[in-house]
Order: sequence, then structure tokens, then C-alpha cells
Amino acid sequence: MKSPILNQNMEDEFGRTAKKLRISVTDRCNMRCVYCMPYNNTTWFDQDNLLSYEQIFHIVTIFADLGVDNIKITGGEPTVRPKIENLVKLLSGVDGIKSISMTTNGLLLKDKVKQLKESGLQSVNISLDTFSEYRFKSMTGIDGGLKKVLDSIDAAQRADLKVKINSVIIRGWNDDEVTEFARFSRETGVTVKFIEFMPLDGTGVWNSNLVFSKRETMDVISRDVQKLVPLDNDKSDPARLYAFEDKKGIIGFIPSITEPFCNNCDRIRINSEGRLFTCLFEKQGYDLKYVLQNRKSDNDIKKFILECVKKKPEGIVSIIKSNALKPTMNVMHTIGG
Ligand code: SAM
Ligand code: SF4
Repeated sequence: MKSPILNQNMEDEFGRTAKKLRISVTDRCNMRCVYCMPYNNTTWFDQDNLLSYEQIFHIVTIFADLGVDNIKITGGEPTVRPKIENLVKLLSGVDGIKSISMTTNGLLLKDKVKQLKESGLQSVNISLDTFSEYRFKSMTGIDGGLKKVLDSIDAAQRADLKVKINSVIIRGWNDDEVTEFARFSRETGVTVKFIEFMPLDGTGVWNSNLVFSKRETMDVISRDVQKLVPLDNDKSDPARLYAFEDKKGIIGFIPSITEPFCNNCDRIRINSEGRLFTCLFEKQGYDLKYVLQNRKSDNDIKKFILECVKKKPEGIVSIIKSNALKPTMNVMHTIGG
């Protein structure tokens, strides 16, 4: 018989219920995005400490019992972890999981798209910040990478995966390309999501002047392309979605800095070493892997998770209120975006 705890949702003290789990499968990456990962001085996780796919599967079955129905696989770069499609396949067999997606830089995706789709992947978020090869190299460190990412976007669409583009717009770096991104959405049918630059840079370059806001991005698009009309948004989705008046193209915004959405946050995260983070801005997280290896039953593990989620902090909204934003508050590639 199922014990009552198996049916309990993960609620925190602010009344939010966690339903979406982001799983970082590696802290490694084949790019070095200027807003994310430092070129040097990176302290890497010990590869022997990574959660195995079987451990991730076990964790997801537990979270599914606690109300999670949506999984996003992320990194570092998830496609550099060998046989990532095997993990997708395992997770797509978990009772209660309705959606499996992946966030990727797209560099290696083209050749993996078919296997990922066959394994049960439903959608991909592909990160792209520029349409210039020259700028691509300066922002990611990769020569000739733009063409590979564009080919991956095309391959993912052909494989019938739902495709969204994640674009971090930074003032003075790529804000002159907003219009081109909007046109790209209209031409290809992919949703383009503009993410405000967050102080989760391993590089220490963040400052508030670099944040190109949702408002500014919308103004550029309305001026140069067409007016945006808000769509019916799922409250828990951090992306605010808009269509164009002629219904061609969809634009999303993740205004983490200027309009933070902590009140409706339904996300929790585990990193590749099995630490649980209830908020992107939580420094240490909780050692879920240790509990997994040392507790007797799944119920004990569930109790631990429920206690951690209960303590979920209010989020970036309270950091902004107290005027405490500063560079490198956390490092995105170790937690997973
Ligand atoms: N490597 C994959 C990728 O780039 O899509 C997945 C991991 S990456 C950390 C996840 C997302 O976080 C990407 O869309 C990336 O652009 C975004 N990201 C990384 N650092 C960020 C920052 N400082 N502010 C806002 N978004 C950031
Ligand atoms: Fe790698 Fe993604 Fe970070 Fe870029 S944003 S360095 S691709 S983990």
C-alpha cells in the first residue's frame, strides 16, 4: 500500500508548488559563453561523483510521486554526456512524466536529433545569441559554430521536435540583433525567447547596465517589425509569450531582472553531482545524492526532499528588493539554466 507521503505535493512556505524538475547532467561544455562559463579557473566537478543515469532515473521516479510532471535536461552542455539519449529513454518511461525537453547549445545536436526524438524527447531549447559567425566566435569561443547551430535548428524542426530559441541579449554586445531574431521566428516558425542577462555568470562580467530589458526588446520589435500581442500565458511559465498581429512568429521573454516571476515559480533543480537546488540563487543546495545512497527507503528520501522544498527562498525578487544583485551570485553551467 502507498504511504500518504507518496501523494504529497512539494509546497514551500510561500505557497508555491514545485512541478518542474531541471536536471543538469554535466558541468562540462564545448562552448565558453561569455555570460556563463569562464575560460580559465573553472573548478570542475569530479567526474566520478556524477549521478549515473540509473540514479537520475531513481530520483525522477521519486519526484514524479511528489507531483513533478515536467523534466528538462540541461548542463553544462547535455549533449557532451555520452549516450544522453539513453537517459531520455529511461525518463520517458517514468509514470507521471508528461514532458521531457532539453536545453542545448546546438553544436552537436544535428547528429543526435533522430535518436533523441525516438527516445522520447518532445522539445528542445537551442541557445543562440547572434547571427554573425564573427560575433559567435567572440561570444562562445567557437569558430564556425553558428552554421552548426543553424543546421541543428533545422534538423530538430524536421525531426518534428518543438523548437524554441533561447537568446541572451546583452547591451552593447548583441542588442543590435533583436530585430533579426524576431524575423527569424517569423520565417522559421520557431519561438524565440529573449532572456535577460542574470548575475549567474561564472565570468564576473555582469552589471545591471548590461541588462537589455524586456521593455526595450519589445520596443525595438514593435518599431522594426510589428506590434506584439500578448498570448494567454501559463502563469507558472517564466516566459511571457507574444504573437505578432498577423500571427506569424512567437516571441517569448524571460524578464528575470526587470519583472521577476518568483511568485509563480514551480521549478526545482538537481545538478550533475546530485545536489538539489530549490532556487537558482540558492548557494549550496542540498546533498540529495548522499541521501539517495544512505537512506533506507524512498519514503525517507521523499521526506528529505519535502523538507528542502519547504525552505525554498523567495528568490531573485527579494535580492532585488534588498539591492543585493552582484556578479556571479551563482554559476549557471554548474546548476543548469
Ligand atoms: N549548454 C546549454 C545551453 O547553452 O543551452 C544548456 C545549459 S545553459 C546554462 C542554459 C541556458 O542558460 C542557456 O540558454 C543560456 O543562454 C542561459 N544562460 C547562461 N548563463 C546565463 C546568464 N548569466 N544569464 C541568463 N541566461 C544565461
Ligand atoms: Fe556552455 Fe550553455 Fe554555458 Fe554556453 S550557456 S557556456 S553553451 S553551458
